[in-house]
Amino acid sequence: ATDFGIEEALKSLGVNDLNEGTSTGIQWYSNGSEITSTSPVDGQVIGKVKTTTKEDYEKVVETAQQAFKTWRTLPAPKRGEIVRQFGEKLREYKEPLGKLVSYEMGKSYQEGLGEVQEMIDICDFAVGLSRQLHGLTMHSERPLHRMYEQYHPLGIVGIISAFNFPVAVWSWNTALAWVCGDVCIWKPSEKTPLTGVACQNLIAEVLKDNNMPEGISCLINGDYKVGELMTHDNRVPLISATGSIRMGKIVAQAVGARLGKSLLELGGNNAIIVTPDADLKMTIIGAVFGAVGTAGQRCTSTRRLIIHESVYDTVKEKLVDAYKQLRIGNPLDQNNHVGPVIDKDAVKMYQAALEKVVTEGGNILVEGGVLEGDGFESGCYVKPAIAEAENHFEIVQEETFAPILYLMKYSGDVTNALELQNGVKQGLSSAIMTTNLREAEQFLSYAGSDCGIANVNIGTSGAEIGGAFGGEKETGGGRESGSDAWKVYMRRQTNTINYSTELPLAQGIKFDL
Ligand code: NAD
Repeated sequence: ATDFGIEEALKSLGVNDLNEGTSTGIQWYSNGSEITSTSPVDGQVIGKVKTTTKEDYEKVVETAQQAFKTWRTLPAPKRGEIVRQFGEKLREYKEPLGKLVSYEMGKSYQEGLGEVQEMIDICDFAVGLSRQLHGLTMHSERPLHRMYEQYHPLGIVGIISAFNFPVAVWSWNTALAWVCGDVCIWKPSEKTPLTGVACQNLIAEVLKDNNMPEGISCLINGDYKVGELMTHDNRVPLISATGSIRMGKIVAQAVGARLGKSLLELGGNNAIIVTPDADLKMTIIGAVFGAVGTAGQRCTSTRRLIIHESVYDTVKEKLVDAYKQLRIGNPLDQNNHVGPVIDKDAVKMYQAALEKVVTEGGNILVEGGVLEGDGFESGCYVKPAIAEAENHFEIVQEETFAPILYLMKYSGDVTNALELQNGVKQGLSSAIMTTNLREAEQFLSYAGSDCGIANVNIGTSGAEIGGAFGGEKETGGGRESGSDAWKVYMRRQTNTINYSTELPLAQGIKFDL
């Protein structure tokens, strides 16, 4: 690992051997047990963090509540200026942070850098947004009255994130929440705690340089039990949770029971429809990157290809050929296409899925398998696999977080493909490959894709920060990042001002004294 400059990266990010797991910005303290972070790249221990206890958590919440009182008084563009400086800091530390993301999570170095770039982009977006937190004005039905709406900060935003985008998801939430006037408490995935420590170190420096109080950015560490401290806590008005559908259902109920707000970003089961008019060169690139990129561990990874029967055999052949060229290995080595999955449990789920698709009647086109030997000592490297399957198979209906692609055929027109595409519980990302305008428009229409993201001639994987990101159905319905996603981080207030000398009531109601 040293060959790839990991040690220097850790050093420059201030991530050392035993990192405290709880921070309110400047001060680090914690008293819980330890989590060891092991790299899926080479199976080596990277470092440890201490987890957050109930008492630590209380201290964090109290500090955050205090910080909110200061932070909300700062004009939004001033908060934007601090977020701008954070973007600059990320530019400065892009390489070491990208490297640590790659080493701790297992995605390619290029994707690690891409993830940090996403953080930089959302900071830029948030800086502009800090001058655009606007509401609407309405005409009042009463004379000499004025009506408008305004947005105010909510308070503490609790962020629970998944291992696969260990840092970007945090920034999507925080950059917006901060300019909106909120303070944040982040619980990163227990599988990637060190990238969390690195991010907290970077933002702490920026806040300190600006003489800000502790508590604007807080970090807590641990597994679901630490997450539950926030989901059950009335002092945290918004919980933004990214992860599995299973987790989302538990979190939604806990937050719902106290009538808090939740923003859920859960699993996907994303498909590309390949029509007779598809550009097959683009289709193959989009499908292969979508299925094997990040070792199939993106929420937007391509899980299903729904191919018209007239081009089915050609697409199948080209895909099998393309898979032969894939190089699997250390993701920090830029010659490799596919890195490891996160841990051995993920390997087991991958193996179980491949067994199940065969039991259910599927046909394996590209064999899977776990790689062993030199360079694969971590036991987390798996071969991307392709199976012909049917949409109703139980295993196809589930999201398996691994590089397995299911092929299925459709006949007739695109309506039949859409039925398959929408025939799953999840609704995150979707795509159609076609040069036929009618098919593309049908796919985008009210009777088309039921997903939060619907692309034409682009794969399902990845998204730009400028659009609202999220999905429907069991994906949870939340929207993060661009467009007007910021509104969820604020409370809306309707204001009516009477500048007359009368007190007319709405709806013409009379109340004479
Ligand atoms: P996970 O559900 O196992 O864990 C996600 C986070 O939730 C972790 O921080 C975990 O500690 C926490 N958590 C789990 N149970 C909890 C509970 N009961 N209360 C509070 N917190 C709890 O998911 P994972 O394996 O880390 O990530 C993979 C999943 O995330 C996939 O399903 C993927 O599709 C999804 N994901 C979705 C998006 C999106 O934007 N829609 C983005 C990234 C990942």
